[in-house]
Formats: sequence, C-alpha cells, structure tokens
Amino acid sequence: MAYDCSKCPGYCCSYDHIHVTENDARRLAKHFDMKEQDFSLRYLKVVPEGYSVLRHRKDHIYKSMCVFFDQEERRCTVYKARPHVCRSYPNGNTCGYYSFIKFEREHQDDQEFIPSA
Ligand code: SF4
Ligand code: SF4
Repeated sequence: MAYDCSKCPGYCCSYDHIHVTENDARRLAKHFDMKEQDFSLRYLKVVPEGYSVLRHRKDHIYKSMCVFFDQEERRCTVYKARPHVCRSYPNGNTCGYYSFIKFEREHQDDQEFIPSA
C-alpha cells in the first residue's frame, strides 16, 4: 500500500456522507448491543438523496468527523463493525489525500504538518 492511515489525521472520516446500508446498520447495532431502530435514531441521519449516513461531531482538525472517530487517538472506534464504504475506501493501493499530505510534509520538512482544511 502507498499510504499509511496511522500517519494521517483521518481525513476520509470527515466526509459529509458516509453511507450506511441496512446490513451496515444491523452489524453496528449488534456491535453496540442495541436495537437497530434505536441505533439508527442515535447515530444515523437520512440525507435529501434518501439514504442513511453517519452523524458527525465537531473536530479540532477538520470541520467535523464521523461520530465514531476517536478525535484524540485519530482512529475508528468501531473498526471491526465499520460500514462497507469504510472497508473499501480508498478503493485501491493509493490514497490521494495521503499522497498530498506526504508531499507537503516533505516540502515543509515537518512530518507532523497538516494542511489547513
Ligand atoms: S485519508 Fe487516506 S491515509 Fe487518511 S485515513 Fe483515510 S484512507 Fe487512510
Ligand atoms: S465508521 Fe470508522 S472508518 Fe468509518 S467514517 Fe466512521 S470513524 Fe471512519
């Protein structure tokens, strides 16, 4: 893989629309030992396009992040039960954001550098 998520502040978890299918909702509800309906009410919202996405919380690096993102550790807290779309991202061996951040860190000579959102 040409990217390393452990060196990234989790940009892809800041996407507004992180799609949750019925199977995803079932798996996540089971993970929390919750009824699917209660899980959906608490953690999902339906967007105008008509599908369910994960709710967000404010974040100190990006504007907001998925509700299941640990903002101090910068990692997913439901990794084993995460939605299908999170499992398949970035759909290949490269991640555009990681390439960008790596390029900027080399040029700024600062391996902690995070481009402003
Ligand atoms: S943006 Fe890319 S490198 Fe960063 S967490 Fe997501 S997949 Fe990993
Ligand atoms: S479920 Fe996990 S991997 Fe998916 S967006 Fe939320 S924090 Fe990121």
